Amino acid sequence: MRMYDIIKKKRDGGALDREEIYYFVHKYSTGQIPDYQVSALMMAIYFKGMNEEETLNLTMAMAESGEMLDLSEIHGIKVDKHSTGGVGDKTSLALVPMAAACGVPIAKMSGRGLGHTGGTIDKLESFSGFHTEIPTDRFIENVNKIGIAIMGQSANLAPADKKLYALRDVTATVDNMSLIASSIMSKKLAAGADAIVLDVKTGSGAFMKREEDAFALAEEMVKIGKNAGRKTIAIISDMDQPLGYAVGNALEVKEAISALQGEGPDDFWELCIKLGSYMLIAGGVAENEKAAERKLNQVIKDKSALKKLAEFVAAQGGDAEAVYETKRLPQASYTETFTAARDGYIHQINCEEIGHCCLLLGGGRETKESEIDLSVGLVLAKKTGALVKKGDILAHIHTNDREKSKEVMAILQGAFVISHKKPPIRPLIRGIIK
Ligand code: URA
Repeated sequence: MRMYDIIKKKRDGGALDREEIYYFVHKYSTGQIPDYQVSALMMAIYFKGMNEEETLNLTMAMAESGEMLDLSEIHGIKVDKHSTGGVGDKTSLALVPMAAACGVPIAKMSGRGLGHTGGTIDKLESFSGFHTEIPTDRFIENVNKIGIAIMGQSANLAPADKKLYALRDVTATVDNMSLIASSIMSKKLAAGADAIVLDVKTGSGAFMKREEDAFALAEEMVKIGKNAGRKTIAIISDMDQPLGYAVGNALEVKEAISALQGEGPDDFWELCIKLGSYMLIAGGVAENEKAAERKLNQVIKDKSALKKLAEFVAAQGGDAEAVYETKRLPQASYTETFTAARDGYIHQINCEEIGHCCLLLGGGRETKESEIDLSVGLVLAKKTGALVKKGDILAHIHTNDREKSKEVMAILQGAFVISHKKPPIRPLIRGIIK
C-alpha cells in the first residue's frame, strides 16, 4: 500500500476502505509517513468529505492507536458526559455528583482549558490538593467505592488524534464535520464508557457558531457512537452568552456548589436537569425524563449530591471541607464593578469576549504551559434580555491586578450590547439527537 495512492483516491472523490484508513493512521502516528503527505490527505478529506463508514473507521483507528481503557471491572452502566466547550460551563462539576448520587457510575476523562474556554480539571484544582494523576486501578476502585472518579487525559489516549489534530490546526483542516466528530469520539471511545451524553454548544462562545453546524456535528457524533456500539445522545445547547453567572475557575466551583444546594442559576439548572436526565436514562436508573428529574431533584433536596461531591474531592486528595465552607477556595484580592453606560435591554453578551476577559485576568491559558490563577474571573450581575438603567452593575471583576481590570473594563464595554429593543429569547436547549 502506498500513501500516494490513498491521497489520490480521496482527491478524486473515492471512499477509503478500512485497511487504507488504518494504514495511514498507524504509519503516521508511528512516524513512518511525513507531515506533508498527511496534510495533503487531510485537505483532500476536507474538500471531498468522508462517508459514515469511513468516519467510523477513522474514529476507531485513532481510538485504537493507544490504550483502550477497560472499565469492565466497574459495576453498572458507565456513563460519560462531554461538552464541546464554552464559557462558564461548569456543568460537569454539579452533574457528575448528581448522577453518581442517583446511582450512575461516573468514570470520566476530563481536560484542561485552553484559550477562552475553561476545563473541568482546572476548576476542580480549586480544591487545594485535588489531583487527577491517578493510576487506572485506583480510578476503577474509586468509581466502585464512591461512584465517581475523574482522570486527566493520559498521553497514551488516542495519540494518533493528538498528532493529527496538531497537524490540522496548522493546515486549515480543523473545521470539517467528519474530522471533528472522529477526533472527539476517538477519545471518548478510548476512555471506555458504555454510554456517552454529549453537550454540543452553539453560539458566540462555541466552536460551532451556527446552529445548523452544531446539529450536523451532533448527528455525526451520535452516528459514530452508535456504530461503535455505545449508547450515544447529544443535546444541542446555547452558548451565545455564558452559562450561569460565574466565569473563572474557583468562581465556577462556587456556583456549582450553590446549584448542589438548590440555589443554582436557572439556565445552569435547566441544562443540568436535561443532561442529567439523559445520563440517568442511559445509565439504566430512570425509565424516562420525568422519573429522572424526580431523582435528580431528590438528591439536591436530601443533600446527597453535595455530599457526593465532598466524597469525590476527598478521594482525589482535595480539601473536601471547602464544599461546605467555600471561603476555603481561592479568592482574588480585589472585586471591582462594571456598570451600564446607558439605559436599555441587554441585547447581547459576547461570550468569547467574556472568556477573553477571564484569560486576561490570568484565569485561562494562552498556551498549554501557562500557569493559571484559579481565583480570578467575572461574575455577571445581569444576563441577556435584562432591562437595565445607566449605572446598574452588569458584572463583578475578581482580580489580583488592578491594572488588568482596567483592560477588562474596556473589553466589557464592547461585550455588553445595550439596546432599546427587547431581544428575542433564545431557548437554552436547541435540540436533541438520539
Ligand atoms: N476538539 C477536538 O477534540 N477535536 C477537533 O477536531 C475539534 C475540537
